[in-house]
Amino acid sequence: MSTFSLKPAIPAALDPGFLPALLYNRHYLQSARKNSPKLPPESPCMCLTRKPAGSAKPSPQPACRNSKSNFMKPHNPTSEVFIPDAKPEAEALQRITHLGIGAHQDDLEFMAFHGILECFARDDRWFGGVTCTNGAGSSRSGPYAAFPDTEMMAIRRQEQNTAAIIGGYGVMIQLDYPSSTIKSPTAQELKEDLKQILTATRPEVVYTHNPADKHDTHIGVTVAALQAMRELPHDQRPKQVIGCEVWRNLDWLPDEHKVIMDVSGRDNLAAAVNGVFDSQIAGGKRYDIATLGRRAANATFFNSHSTDASTQVIFGMDLSPLVTDESIDIVAYVSDLLEQFHDDVRIKLSQRIGQS
Ligand SMILES: [Zn+2]
Repeated sequence: MSTFSLKPAIPAALDPGFLPALLYNRHYLQSARKNSPKLPPESPCMCLTRKPAGSAKPSPQPACRNSKSNFMKPHNPTSEVFIPDAKPEAEALQRITHLGIGAHQDDLEFMAFHGILECFARDDRWFGGVTCTNGAGSSRSGPYAAFPDTEMMAIRRQEQNTAAIIGGYGVMIQLDYPSSTIKSPTAQELKEDLKQILTATRPEVVYTHNPADKHDTHIGVTVAALQAMRELPHDQRPKQVIGCEVWRNLDWLPDEHKVIMDVSGRDNLAAAVNGVFDSQIAGGKRYDIATLGRRAANATFFNSHSTDASTQVIFGMDLSPLVTDESIDIVAYVSDLLEQFHDDVRIKLSQRIGQS
């Protein structure tokens, strides 16, 4: 009988010896764009969690991984602010232009890949990630079957931070809530944390779960995110808010209400950020294949009369009106969209049968 240690499950990307190559990705790509091969400036990070390597080769500063944030004060003391390129926290937060707010480790990569791509290898746009849960309720099978909650939580947190490194995120915040808090209709902690993050980042675009999702924890995150944004001063609210696909697609949305996010041509990057979630995929739940498959299906089945101009498309629900105008009832807004789908099916079928 073989044992499975924690070590192989922790991606090598966070090993100090491997980290420099990943951290330099963004800078190399930026430099290539500018046709200037200069090295990145020395980071002013004062994080003391890891000493610089004693190598003759120049080495970047380690990623800054603050279990206790100096700038924000999330509710849970076990929350974590991870800054892949080790910029000071205030600077890292203020540069965020696209913010993803997801329930579980991996949700951002599956649903908000458009935002990740919009910001990838750019120095004028930065993706910020927020994961709300602690991973304690994760399914586990295969090589992870015997892992207790504490180890599973550590693995999932590590996997999420690895995706943040690969995707070049400006910041990755893990709020470490149990699902029960997120699903509670009375708990205010998550909403307050998200308000703090939104105030510190002031993103132009926010990606979160769509309110018609099947997963109760996803719905809890969406509601908290919407409530947080609706309580911000009007001039601090994001311009665009998109509810994204995970546990239900959005094919049913009337086309005029779909946010069409074309992510074609970057399947390699999608595979890279999705593939690090080994603890969820190795047991046989192929989220990585299913996610790209859904995007391919969206691209092909969107329009029956034209050839495929795109090969990978994510659908989103436009939630911006709910944030612009806090008097709009969230349940009524989503119910109206469902009603439009209902009417579309009923009218088409009735016309053909001759009942209209
Ligand atoms: Zn999820």
